[in-house]
Amino acid sequence: MSYPILHIRKGKDQSLMRRHPWVFSGAIESTTESLKDGDLVCLCTKKDQFLGIGHFQHATISVRILSFEFEEINQEFFNRKIKKAVDSRLGIGLLSDTNNIFRICHGEGDELPGLVIDFYNGVAVIQCHSIGMYFSVEQISNALQYALGDVLTAVYTKSAETLPKRTDVTDGYLFGNCETPHVALENGVKYNIDWITGQKTGFFIDQRVNRRILGEYAQGKKVLNTFCYSGGFSLQALNHGATLVHSLDSSKKAIALTDENVALNDFHENHASIVADAMDYMKELKEDYDIIILDPPAFAKHREKRHQAIQGYKRLNAHAIRQIKPGGIIFTFSCSQVIDKALFTNTIIAAAIETGRSVRILEQIHQPADHPIHAFHPEGEYLKGLIIQVD
Ligand code: SAH
Repeated sequence: MSYPILHIRKGKDQSLMRRHPWVFSGAIESTTESLKDGDLVCLCTKKDQFLGIGHFQHATISVRILSFEFEEINQEFFNRKIKKAVDSRLGIGLLSDTNNIFRICHGEGDELPGLVIDFYNGVAVIQCHSIGMYFSVEQISNALQYALGDVLTAVYTKSAETLPKRTDVTDGYLFGNCETPHVALENGVKYNIDWITGQKTGFFIDQRVNRRILGEYAQGKKVLNTFCYSGGFSLQALNHGATLVHSLDSSKKAIALTDENVALNDFHENHASIVADAMDYMKELKEDYDIIILDPPAFAKHREKRHQAIQGYKRLNAHAIRQIKPGGIIFTFSCSQVIDKALFTNTIIAAAIETGRSVRILEQIHQPADHPIHAFHPEGEYLKGLIIQVD
């Protein structure tokens, strides 16, 4: 094993000793000029005590740790890690007669920093957030074949949009082939998935459990699903007997996906789509809804944007709280990592105070089991939701 050695400044090795997987550029004492993005490196204390092995990148997060053991990062390593991730999903029944959409690997949460793998009815879609992971995609694809066997029909890499621009990153199939859109199942409902033209890997898998919970509330209800993308929540509501569902998104393409998914399940009767800006639309609602879903994109991607984002969440939620019918229910979410659970809850409380209506929190919901938060990497927590009832 001959990975270049990087020494960590005294005092800066503490987080690594606690097994936090990120090393910031300021923590590295050695010169890194000769290193290339994606190189594997070995980290040591100033006294040459081994700390970990990771992928190097000329960036704020300079190293993402793959292993805290002194071991080679090879095919056997990826086979073991990916098999463990796959088994944890299969072990909780995510692959069944009614569900074949789930996340196989959630980066740091699965001790594979920078690697996301989503599964859609036989097809694995890889999205890399570090160059080092991208350079390992062949091994990752082999490991997926090893872990999933015949269940796997194709592997696609879609990393050009998540990595810094460079000529040697290309998207495409690494194994097999699959025409898109490809039909897959979530909670017994069919969805068309297109990883090539869709957002992220094609679908927002992280709302699977929350969509199922919505189903429990939806029978006989009138529902407004804002920021609907491909209609994830809408279809679950329709499947559970909602009498009317309005799906809203500012993107025409997203609404086209929603309409296709509604048609795929023969749900047209009780459904209508709206192309509009959610913030504008919410100012004055034209219908008495029983349930409103608010699932906006991350308003704050960075800490500096946090204050502005809070104002955005407060305004959006205040519009919904003010207008929903008495007894109505709001599913409200934030996927901004820099806004934590307490801050989000306080923002919703502030919105309630502003409207003068009485609001109760019925359930606190979050990201599902296939998006795990590693105990040593609390930054992995990002999706928070509240189910509130307005009196
Ligand atoms: N709830 C969805 C995922 C939401 S992703 C699901 O379950 O799959 C966020 C969506 O918000 C995207 O589809 C994006 O097009 C849409 N969007 C972004 N800004 C918007 C705005 N101002 N008004 C309405 N939709 C918006």
